[in-house]
Amino acid sequence: MALITLPASLTRVMQQVNAPFADTFRALRGITPQEIGLLLKSIAAKRRPKRVPPINSDFFDILGELSPEERLIQQKIRSYMEEKIRPLANSYWERGEFPHEIVPSFARLVAETFGTRPYAIDALGPVLTGVACMELARVDPSIYTFFGVHWGLCMGSIDLFGSAEQKQRWLPPMQRFELIGSWALTEPDVGSATAAGLTTTARFERGYWVLNGAKKWSGNAPIADLNIIWARDVSNNQVQGFIVERGTPGYEVERLEGKIALRTVQNANIRLVNCRVPEANRLPNVGGFRGIARQLAITRAAVAWAMTGVAMGAYEKALAYAQQRIQFGRPIGGFQLVQNSLVQMLANVTAMQTMCLRMSQIAARNGNISHEHASLAKVFCGEKMRETVALARAVFGGNGILLEHEVARYFADAEALYSYEGTHEMNTLIVGRAITGMSAFV
Ligand SMILES: Cc1cc2nc3c(=O)[nH]c(=O)nc-3n(C[C@H](O)[C@H](O)[C@H](O)COP(=O)(O)OP(=O)(O)OC[C@H]3O[C@@H](n4cnc5c(N)ncnc54)[C@H](O)[C@@H]3O)c2cc1C
Repeated sequence: MALITLPASLTRVMQQVNAPFADTFRALRGITPQEIGLLLKSIAAKRRPKRVPPINSDFFDILGELSPEERLIQQKIRSYMEEKIRPLANSYWERGEFPHEIVPSFARLVAETFGTRPYAIDALGPVLTGVACMELARVDPSIYTFFGVHWGLCMGSIDLFGSAEQKQRWLPPMQRFELIGSWALTEPDVGSATAAGLTTTARFERGYWVLNGAKKWSGNAPIADLNIIWARDVSNNQVQGFIVERGTPGYEVERLEGKIALRTVQNANIRLVNCRVPEANRLPNVGGFRGIARQLAITRAAVAWAMTGVAMGAYEKALAYAQQRIQFGRPIGGFQLVQNSLVQMLANVTAMQTMCLRMSQIAARNGNISHEHASLAKVFCGEKMRETVALARAVFGGNGILLEHEVARYFADAEALYSYEGTHEMNTLIVGRAITGMSAFV
């Protein structure tokens, strides 16, 4: 930091500061406003920290739980997101477009992460999968969501419920991102209540399934090559899943416009009008809505980790800003109220990380994730994420609503994560049912 040289008149005033007031006032006579400005700058310079501590959003060292190999993967994902995605994130978000240009490099990142492992929804194990989702969302919740729908929901459905032939046909090209996947459960009139009754129907006729109905929100659908469509089999009311390929007659995709969150993610309204799907494209091992719920527990756990990443990203941006934004002659990070906000954010982030880590460690030990654990983590992390992004936005003052400072993007995107993969309320009720033995929603 450059030192400010004070004129002799000001040095005299500085020496008088401890003297009686009359002496000080005498010394102040004849000093110009410019010199007073210099004096204030010099006082402010003394108040700035001599060494700015590094920004660390992993205060309790949860990453220390990773093996050296896992740590390398985490670092690779972090570098990729910082170098390749952060510079593009705002402009694609603002335009509401998907960055097709990143798909080849993203595919390489995923290939390097997976190494020689064939795809399976849990191939990386719950902890590393969670950390990977956290790292994606820490920089861009939209890219995390693109990945979550393709990898966890679409490929996950084929992995969990598909036949050997279906897995062989679809998973390898999807793993290489040569084909992009989508997933459609929610309907315009049935959101939280999908377990109680989808209205989209599937009727078996002469070797084909005929689908009719409508879907809403389906992630990636406008850019996807295939979509998993969930429908009610009219013969027995069981939920069935179908792989519907782009271009199938009767499968109509309309991009959803006007989103104020995750604008980079392409969502769609879908109409199914006598859409004929071969039996070979029906997922044979769903086993009713229980199967979907099992899959959603896995992906919900990932969302809790992603929420943690969103909060980390917002906290890091807020701390960096607080260290360099000067008001009243000093960095705002030196004010008690701002420090209180920063510490609250860090406490939230740390609580979210430790809860997610423990959830995933138990899942790794038990070989599966419990619905209640995933729902509790989503409920808690959703609340803390929202609080954290709001505190972070406020630290930026007016700049907090400008996209260029990024925190506005986290603030807006948090709203989507809060509501998708089961709303905050529905996940609360899942935990409520588990601890009381009574269902409050069906
Ligand atoms: C950005 C984004 C991406 C999405 N991507 C996909 C996707 O790829 N595929 C897909 O299928 N869906 C997707 N969804 C849909 C998402 O899963 C639904 O929005 C969610 O399940 C809630 O349904 P809903 O919006 O219809 O709300 P509703 O079910 O209409 O709920 C409205 C409100 O009522 C509350 N509520 C409802 N029932 C109860 C009850 N019994 N007790 C207490 N409160 C209740 C809810 O919690 C909520 O606050 C996406 C949503 C968003 C926002």
